[in-house]
Amino acid sequence: MTRLRLHDTLTGEKVEFAPREATDRVTLYVCGPTVYNFAHIGNARPVVVFDVLFRLLQRLYPEREVVYARNITDVDDKINAAAISQGVDISVITDKYAEIYNKDMAALNALPPTHQPRATAHMGEMTALIERMLDDGSAYEADGEVLFDVGRYDGGTGRYGQLSGRSLDDMIAGARVEVAANKHHAADFVLWKPSKPGEPEWPGPRGLPGRPGWHIECSAMAEAVLGLPIDIHGGGHDLIFPHHTNEIAQSCAAHGATDPRAYARYWMHNGFLDFSGEKMSKSLGNVVLVHELVQPYPGEVIRWALLSGHYRSPRDWTPDLLDQSRKALDRLYGVLQRAEDIEPARTVAAGALDALTDDLNTPGAIADLFALSGRLEKAVAANDMNEAMGVKADLLRLAEVMGVLQQNPSVWFRGGANDDFAAEVERLIAERLAARQTKNWPEADRIRDRLTELNVVVMDNPTGATWRLKD
Ligand code: AMP
Ligand code: ZN
Repeated sequence: MTRLRLHDTLTGEKVEFAPREATDRVTLYVCGPTVYNFAHIGNARPVVVFDVLFRLLQRLYPEREVVYARNITDVDDKINAAAISQGVDISVITDKYAEIYNKDMAALNALPPTHQPRATAHMGEMTALIERMLDDGSAYEADGEVLFDVGRYDGGTGRYGQLSGRSLDDMIAGARVEVAANKHHAADFVLWKPSKPGEPEWPGPRGLPGRPGWHIECSAMAEAVLGLPIDIHGGGHDLIFPHHTNEIAQSCAAHGATDPRAYARYWMHNGFLDFSGEKMSKSLGNVVLVHELVQPYPGEVIRWALLSGHYRSPRDWTPDLLDQSRKALDRLYGVLQRAEDIEPARTVAAGALDALTDDLNTPGAIADLFALSGRLEKAVAANDMNEAMGVKADLLRLAEVMGVLQQNPSVWFRGGANDDFAAEVERLIAERLAARQTKNWPEADRIRDRLTELNVVVMDNPTGATWRLKD
């Protein structure tokens, strides 16, 4: 069995991943979007990164034993505000943006997760968790709200700060939380609160109608669809505190556990995508929307751009990055096109996924794809079929886990041109070839000019010609 090493935020170290004792089942939970708006390319980073992890786990463990949940947050203040301002039910907003989100992420070759729970469908589980915490004193009622008692949970052990690696005092200072009069402790957070007039409400714990806080939504959904403990919990590094810190605290408190691993055994966080050195975020208004990028760029180019940096490092988003990514894919698809007749071997070399099993080293995997493509070209040139078949299998397997290079190369180069257009181009290329064979140079030139007018670049090679649309 290949070893999978992951950087665990809880220990701050790369550790070897192992499923729970005596099982092959692996569960993964990643915090999904709050659906009131279009996703920006920063929001797509965790989706693509954890999609690579999902694909990798499916290769390392029996595929149907790998269970991935990525939720939809469809209860939130911003959603309520949008619904009230447009005079519609929240579901009108959340259904619309959840659908756009799923389409946009599919365009980036992200597989659908096994489960996509919505907060509105798990109100009963949230209420039950909160009631358990009220019963044992982990939570308390104040002014119609239910708050989590952080001081009681931490009890001076430092437990509350374990994930963020900070002390309770530091976290409070950093988060600049207002100390409301009804709180026992500045860090206490809302589990349940009354809805404002016009906002949706649900029957809550101890008959308090209202709505949940954000953190309890994920605790309830993760437990409901995956069961505890979750194996791997992920998200952007901005979620370490307070969101994930609070998920651990609530879920452990509700189940009388003190070890944070009773909730999730490994924690992974992606670095931020920046824009001109500043973090990309809706509140700063410096966002590039996935929805707008998937029109001019193939999703695969955007995905490649996101994976070209290590997931834990911050990454600056530049227009250049997309052009470089397209060129990289063109080169690799070009090699695959020239090796189109080679049947890949049935078995893959043991080390083919080594870069990815080393904490999802996607830049390393990209270097490996280029090294493999170089070997493939050499083997084809030397007519070494054994080598070519083996190398092609390795290349395609690694590419599959990266979620790239899965199209037919000619389809890639056609770049979305429709069938009629493609047939016309093929016809012109055949006529040009015939003209050249009869040394009818003026005719060959005329056809080449016509192809240029159609925005087509023809690439001649020993066995004929291939073509692509100009950028
Ligand atoms: P949100 O819809 O803001 O809750 O974000 C959804 C996911 O995107 C979370 O996992 C965030 O951590 C992540 N995220 C938000 N902004 C960025 C960014 N600029 N770069 C990387 N990840 C981000
Ligand atoms: Zn969450």
